[in-house]
Amino acid sequence: MTPQPHRSFWLQEVAGDAPDAPPLAGHHTADVAIVGGGYVGLWTAIRLKEFAPACDVAVVEADICGGGASGRNGGFALSWWPKLASLTALIGERDAVTVAQDSERAIAEIGVFTAAHGIAADFRQGGWLWTATSQAQMGSWNGLLELCARRGVTPFRVVPPDQVHRLAGSPVHRAGILEGSAAVVQPAALARGLRRVALEAGVRVYEHSRVRHFTRDQPVVLTTDQGRLVAPTVVIATNAWAAGIRELGRSIAVISSDIVATAPIPEELAQLGWHPDLAITDSQIMVDYYRISNDRRIIFGKGGWTIGFGGRIGPRFDRHSRRAAEVTADFRRYYPSLGAVPITHDWSGPIDRTPTSLPLLGYLGGRRHLIYGVGWSGNGVGPSVVGGRVLASMALGRQDRWGQYPLIGRSAGSFPPEPIRFLGAHAVRTAVARKERREIVDAKPSWLATQIARLAPAGLEDKTGAP
Ligand SMILES: Cc1cc2nc3c(=O)[nH]c(=O)nc-3n(C[C@H](O)[C@H](O)[C@H](O)COP(=O)(O)OP(=O)(O)OC[C@H]3O[C@@H](n4cnc5c(N)ncnc54)[C@H](O)[C@@H]3O)c2cc1C
Repeated sequence: MTPQPHRSFWLQEVAGDAPDAPPLAGHHTADVAIVGGGYVGLWTAIRLKEFAPACDVAVVEADICGGGASGRNGGFALSWWPKLASLTALIGERDAVTVAQDSERAIAEIGVFTAAHGIAADFRQGGWLWTATSQAQMGSWNGLLELCARRGVTPFRVVPPDQVHRLAGSPVHRAGILEGSAAVVQPAALARGLRRVALEAGVRVYEHSRVRHFTRDQPVVLTTDQGRLVAPTVVIATNAWAAGIRELGRSIAVISSDIVATAPIPEELAQLGWHPDLAITDSQIMVDYYRISNDRRIIFGKGGWTIGFGGRIGPRFDRHSRRAAEVTADFRRYYPSLGAVPITHDWSGPIDRTPTSLPLLGYLGGRRHLIYGVGWSGNGVGPSVVGGRVLASMALGRQDRWGQYPLIGRSAGSFPPEPIRFLGAHAVRTAVARKERREIVDAKPSWLATQIARLAPAGLEDKTGAP
């Protein structure tokens, strides 16, 4: 029996919601096989059944559905508005705005969908407060606000500094802007709810079934330890694990994101005045992100420390005690009055960062029957709703708006090959960490660290101006 991986607070909260699905054993067939049972795989499965109810769909998942990033994330459902500059560079002005609008609508759709299907995912649409917590971070959003103004869109509003302190519950937050469409969810409850809806729609789910190999020709043969699944069309939705796929590996760098959760502290939070429905981030490259859970814990995460060599994802991507201590230190710096509040949970997960920080949607090696949707770059909760529609349309060969989505087949660029990528990523990450450790206390970072840190790919948002 394989040992259970370390689980996030979120997954522990929903543990036992349903018995695990049996592994794939023996020989099976399907019209569409989906590899990966996270948001992307499950939304795709659900849309396939909506678009083509007779389609025989099977999801093959190495762990349990939601065991990957979908059951471990911060639960921030964000749009692609903060990536408008990157989108514009990739697909042009008009499509960039359309795609960003789709991603905004996707957030509200999560609320509607979960309500309609009785998924208790604690959807709360309180907005995203993007803040500056040091002098160096001030005005990180200026280029983006100018770009939005030029395009005639207004997804963000500037919040007066005193309101920023109040909303975020700490004067460490010096300035900020709010994107009202953003929401928070209980991420694992969302993933597990999607699994239930998929099963109810007739999707077959195989858990504890790692796909060890798949052929490239049609029909595709997927091989797991105990079985084989043959399907004319396959959708690869394996997030950071796709870095191990030959054709995709160079476009994905695997980095960790790490989270701690406090004990429930309803009285302390009420005193701070932190608005409970808000998603909050600072403006660091190794971004701090934080929100409040339904039972009034603080969930505090930080992006970008552990780097996977050659895309390998080991146990350090499940839990990393030194990282948890560093994330805790950031939390205590931002909320000094909560110094005595205990940390009860910590966990990590892998992020599939692409050079553009936008996802890769396309046909593997140009084969129309082998479809992939990976590279969500730490922003997959909301965008996977769009991704599911696109991937389902691609799998069915539909020539509708989703089947011809502007993001399909865009070159994401590539990272250098290993071991240069690993060594380079280490050097850049170390420089970013050094620079940001100085800046957070309003000290000047070294010239060298600043220069090397410039090589880091964009994080959650584009900070440097507009095309
Ligand atoms: C700690 C953390 C915090 C994050 N915070 C946020 C946030 O607040 N907001 C946000 O939008 N995004 C966030 N993200 C990113 C977000 O979680 C992902 O973008 C999203 O979950 C992607 O969904 P997915 O289905 O592609 O990936 P996953 O949920 O990882 O699903 C992929 C699945 O594929 C399975 N798999 C892998 N290889 C195989 C194989 N060979 N055979 C079968 N199955 C396989 C895995 O077990 C996994 O379950 C965060 C990520 C992490 C790790």
